Amino acid sequence: MTEKQNKQLFNNPLLLFASILIPLAGLFLLATIVQHKLFLFIAIGSILTILITIRINNRLNQNHSIIGLNLQGVEEQINLAENEIKKEEQAIDSLSEKIIGYSQLKGLTEKLSICLYLEDTSRTLSEEVNKLFGDQDTTIILYLFHSKTGELGISSSQKGQMRVNIKTKKGDIFDQWIVKTMQPLLVEDTHSDYRFDFDKIKNEEARPIRSLISVPLVVGSKALGILRIDSPREDHFATEDLRFLTAIGDLGAVAIENAQLYEAIEQLAIKDGLTNLYLRRFLLDRVQEEISRQLRKKNELSFLMIDLDYFKQYNDKYGHVAGDIVLRTVSLILSEMFREAGNIVCRYGGEEFAILLPDCSKEKAAELAEKVRDRIAGQTIILRRVKTTITVSIGVASLSQNVASKQELIHLADQALYKAKQSGRNQVCIA
Ligand code: GH3
Ligand code: MG
Ligand code: MG
Repeated sequence: MTEKQNKQLFNNPLLLFASILIPLAGLFLLATIVQHKLFLFIAIGSILTILITIRINNRLNQNHSIIGLNLQGVEEQINLAENEIKKEEQAIDSLSEKIIGYSQLKGLTEKLSICLYLEDTSRTLSEEVNKLFGDQDTTIILYLFHSKTGELGISSSQKGQMRVNIKTKKGDIFDQWIVKTMQPLLVEDTHSDYRFDFDKIKNEEARPIRSLISVPLVVGSKALGILRIDSPREDHFATEDLRFLTAIGDLGAVAIENAQLYEAIEQLAIKDGLTNLYLRRFLLDRVQEEISRQLRKKNELSFLMIDLDYFKQYNDKYGHVAGDIVLRTVSLILSEMFREAGNIVCRYGGEEFAILLPDCSKEKAAELAEKVRDRIAGQTIILRRVKTTITVSIGVASLSQNVASKQELIHLADQALYKAKQSGRNQVCIA
């Protein structure tokens, strides 16, 4: 008999009863027929053995069910422990993800903190976002609001390692949504996101855009711009990505504001408030740098010193405000005429201007100075419906074998200017 059959026999009372009764009945029958005490003895012994067996069996069954219950309890505890382990594993995973995220943000903060100027800050921000999110297809765009007009404009854009040309320079419908709501935006698939008109997107932008994340750049209550990433593939971004971009945007916004403030302060320090020309200190520093550079490269360098003629009389006649208008008019003319890269136009003093001309010979500088004199003398300045004019005297000096220092160069230009004044004003003198 197999163990299974044994179990069935013990668990079925009828079977058990029958299996006991039939042999016993046989023994009793044998005892009465044969009338032998041995059989009666065997029968009684058998009954006792069977009763003990049944008792043991019941005990075993009881123990079996207790063990079964305990086993269930243990299994439950194992399940609970397994769930706990799973939770712990998930917590460890998300913690290590957070640690990675924080260290990436720390790296970004360090990189942004060494950028002083807006251009560097914008470039660093989009390059870093590209490293964190970008692949060959994603496009990163950083828009900033113009400080004066308030219009949205592209500050930097990147696709892979390349700069990319964006058609919608002032932002598309997604950017307009951000400007309107000032909320982060996740579009999983432009084909099925009914907040946005897909046909309009197709007409606006040649690049295919299927998904994007975008955040407003805000410091306090001041909106600075938008940081956005888009992809030609649907479902390229998840909520987690948007959350991470929001953290990056917060850091970026602070860096952008710092750069804007830095540039504004620097402008104040090196540029004159009335004329928007560089101040004397800035020019002197640059003259020194340029002289060292030109001497090394053996190039030419010239310097113009310009002074308004009889300006005191002009002020006295038309008033100080009119005098300011003249100063601004002359400044505009000079900025326009010397806008070429490298030239530096500066307000050297009250009504004195100086111009640094790198890579410019004395002859060329004299020619330019004559053009300046002529242009200013020919400029009509209308003050309270009265047509007025002003003239300037100009001294020209250039680097040479005998003139190799900043002091010598400026002194010579000053001397030439004095000569021009002495010779009747409204003229150019060359040192
Ligand atoms: P000259 O050309 O022959 O040297 O005579 P000038 O009268 O131009 O020179 P002077 O140095 O005698 O006078 C300069 C005047 O420039 C005096 C001052 O009132 C005026 N000035 C200096 N700075 C400003 C300014 O910012 N605004 C106005 N309106 N006038 C100024
Ligand atoms: Mg003067
Ligand atoms: Mg003067």
